[in-house]
Amino acid sequence: MNAVEGFVIEGAHVVTVDGAEYADGHVVVRAGRIWAVGAGPAPGAEGLQRVDGRGCLVTPGLVNTHNHLYQWATQGLFADGTLFEWLVGSYEIWGRLDADVVSGTTSAGLAHLALSGCTTASDHHYVHPSGRGDIVAAEVEAAREVGVRLDLARGSMDRGQSQGGLPPDAVVESLEQALAGTAEAVDVYHDTAPDAMTRVAVAPCSPFSVSRALMVESAELARDRGVRLHTHLAETLDEEQQCLEEFGCTPVEYAEKLGWLGPDVWFAHAVHLSDAAIERIASTGTGVAHCPTSNARLGAGICRVPELLEAGVPVGLGVDGPASSELTPLAGEMHQALLMARARRGPTALSARQALEMATLGGARVLGRDAELGSLAVGKLADIALWRVDGFGYDVIGDPVVAAVFGPTPPLERLWVGGNTVVDRGELRTLSAETAAARGRAAHRALTQEVSR
Ligand SMILES: [Zn+2]
Repeated sequence: MNAVEGFVIEGAHVVTVDGAEYADGHVVVRAGRIWAVGAGPAPGAEGLQRVDGRGCLVTPGLVNTHNHLYQWATQGLFADGTLFEWLVGSYEIWGRLDADVVSGTTSAGLAHLALSGCTTASDHHYVHPSGRGDIVAAEVEAAREVGVRLDLARGSMDRGQSQGGLPPDAVVESLEQALAGTAEAVDVYHDTAPDAMTRVAVAPCSPFSVSRALMVESAELARDRGVRLHTHLAETLDEEQQCLEEFGCTPVEYAEKLGWLGPDVWFAHAVHLSDAAIERIASTGTGVAHCPTSNARLGAGICRVPELLEAGVPVGLGVDGPASSELTPLAGEMHQALLMARARRGPTALSARQALEMATLGGARVLGRDAELGSLAVGKLADIALWRVDGFGYDVIGDPVVAAVFGPTPPLERLWVGGNTVVDRGELRTLSAETAAARGRAAHRALTQEVSR
């Protein structure tokens, strides 16, 4: 089924995520874009291929706002460590990665994301050991094969242990290398077209692994090139303590001093925020990537999502790296986000539809792509997920959005990116799941063969 001819989905429960919902609705796709959405059968869709949506929920494709795909190769390690213990143990292994490992982990990680409804994936890649091949090129090429839109957040670290940072010196770049490598990634791969399959952001890793100079100059680089800025911030109390001791201020205050608040910035985690910090994030239009499973797995805390949403902050969902959220399906983060918000703040803290909005339009806002992605609106790109909600167990829940968010991730019937089929009846159609898995295994073996178990 190709994107030029188009197709029509009929008989499905359609949630546009921009205010409309149809219990028996249609979506018409032509030339890779949404042509019509509404109730009942599609008018004027004669000659188009029909997709029977009965028993299914139609949503926009999901947007993943934070990940580290290379961590596919190091899942399950340091299982009971704090963030800093987990990082210190992992850095030794990550320092051995090369372009082949990144190619394999990108194939496996993006295939896994696509199978849970993801059509746009941000990947924060901050480990660039020298002399290990063209890591950025390997990632972009592997992503093209899977067929999911890639938002490559070219990361960096320049603050090794000899400079008071957390990572060993062998896995960090110099300030000059980091800036040059990031500028090259932007100049070669950032596509400004509305239907871009590859965008690039500037993404130094975190204040505890990056010098002040690299944070400041990264912001200048991003603004010079007109691309977005991303980093980890306010993830743990350890980080806050270090920030207070070293810089005399909280992580959000530190970010503001460095020019790191604004509508072109998004932070991963943002767990430990005061009311004043939320106000600064909101008033500057800064976005947040909420990663509930990773935050729970590492015992980091619970992000104040309801307060962020009430303040008007763009909030998207992220699975974070597979090494801190093993095999987490992106759709499952809606479930996790809902439960964690309610555990902390009561039953009205977050609704199923709010969770779905974070996973779609919220994520598109965080990545600066809400003009073309994130909702089923006429003219937007045909990035669409079709979920089967009439199977065992789902069939006794009347509200399909509640079924999809309150329960485990429902089976993915179809997934389209720009009108092109990526998943059909639960099977990846762009690259076989067996091939993606084999590439992931090879990367795992290559990276961990020296690790004693
Ligand atoms: Zn992360």
